[in-house]
Amino acid sequence: MKAITRFAPSPTGYIHIGNVRSAIYPYLLARQTNGKFILRIEDTDRERFVEGATDLILDTLKWLGIDWNEGPIVGGTHGPYFQSERKELYLEWAKKLIASGRAYADPTPKEQIDAYRNECNSKKVPFLYRNFRPTNPPAWQPGLPLRFKAEPKDYSWHDEVMGDMHAGPETQDDIIIIKQDGFPTYNFAHIVDDAEMGVTHVMRGVEYLSSTPNYLALYEALGLQMPYFVSLPHILTPTGNKKLGKRDGAKSVTEYRDDGILPEAMLNYLACLGWNDGSEQEIYTKDELISKFSLDRIQSSGARYDETKLLWLNGQWIRRLFTEQGVDTLYDRTVGFWPDSAASASPEYQKQVLSIIYDRLKTLSDLKTMTDYFFRDPEINLDLLINNKFLKKLSEAELESLLKVTVSKLSTLNSWDADSLQNTLNQLLSETGKKPAELFSLIRLSVSFAPFSPALNLTLETLGKESTIFRLNAVARAI
Ligand code: GLU
Repeated sequence: MKAITRFAPSPTGYIHIGNVRSAIYPYLLARQTNGKFILRIEDTDRERFVEGATDLILDTLKWLGIDWNEGPIVGGTHGPYFQSERKELYLEWAKKLIASGRAYADPTPKEQIDAYRNECNSKKVPFLYRNFRPTNPPAWQPGLPLRFKAEPKDYSWHDEVMGDMHAGPETQDDIIIIKQDGFPTYNFAHIVDDAEMGVTHVMRGVEYLSSTPNYLALYEALGLQMPYFVSLPHILTPTGNKKLGKRDGAKSVTEYRDDGILPEAMLNYLACLGWNDGSEQEIYTKDELISKFSLDRIQSSGARYDETKLLWLNGQWIRRLFTEQGVDTLYDRTVGFWPDSAASASPEYQKQVLSIIYDRLKTLSDLKTMTDYFFRDPEINLDLLINNKFLKKLSEAELESLLKVTVSKLSTLNSWDADSLQNTLNQLLSETGKKPAELFSLIRLSVSFAPFSPALNLTLETLGKESTIFRLNAVARAI
């Protein structure tokens, strides 16, 4: 079966990782079945509307490599794809409900409704508006809210993730379908749109599960066919105590991009947050996700967000890009992530640095902190040297003489390549009688003054003879 799925975000702010997964799963299902993936912007809540939020959503999806068959920019036969431009259509469907006696205009002022609610609260009974339904509602006209007239009953339905569901009459109420401002509510608009757009699988957050009986009643009253329901469990905070939301620091997806996360890693991570194919595999390309995705392996309980795992996966993806597609491909992704000092370096030199450091990167922004010394002489910090755990035992005189011996040995080296450097470093070890941890820490720190560096021979090879000797001499003089 070709699945027609959709992602229907509301442009109420940035799109964070807690909600972008509701785009990924429908996308994977549509692509797997050669169906269609539709993007629809649900912008009928004018009070929560945020200017620019739609662009952020489009940007995020594009960055993740999620393309849509119908929707903003690409268009399609079921447009427009902004709900605010479909008002007439919702009215047409609403009028069908008025005609069949299943919708009524509600002139009740808000204060009165609040009073009903308070009355129920004080009696400790659930507030159901249908118990206060006006007896003689006026004919509907724009400016009046329009309510669905519930005919409460038992419902049983199947949710592809949550299983067989049952709900009693108490779950159904006279919900508003057209608001006073003429815009439809989400509850009504999404049903009309999903039907008009031929959506076969409604995949969305589990928070809509409790409203499903109201939706089932609407499908029936409108004579519409039920789609498959796929409720996606929440993404939880790292401690697992609640749904991950903006208030818990859920970052926008584009912030991760700016922090140097690769889209491949993000897609991989989010797809596997609450889904697995039953194997031990952890790294999936987009194509693998498309072929292996299945609704029946979406877990029904919430999945905890774990940033350490995301960073690990990102590191794996950085290595994978380098080893499978080469340094040029990875280099293209690093634009904007280099330290300022790299600005005047040639792309060739940057690529050389990247080739020896890529397997230590967790994010592309690590380049900023991990490669600065390749592009400019580091500031000499003798404290760092003297207090180093391997160098602490050596006197300053010893440190100075070790540096001098190293300089004179390296100065005689004619071919400055990784193998010759390794041989020379080994000779220095036996000549000085020092342990590798001592001698190599001293050289490494003296040329970098950084907590990490790639293998010493590779670091020196990349820095070049002149720079290496200059830096070692400068430290020897400073001690
Ligand atoms: N506009 C709704 C939201 O952003 C979409 C829910 C749905 O996918 O139906 O939560």
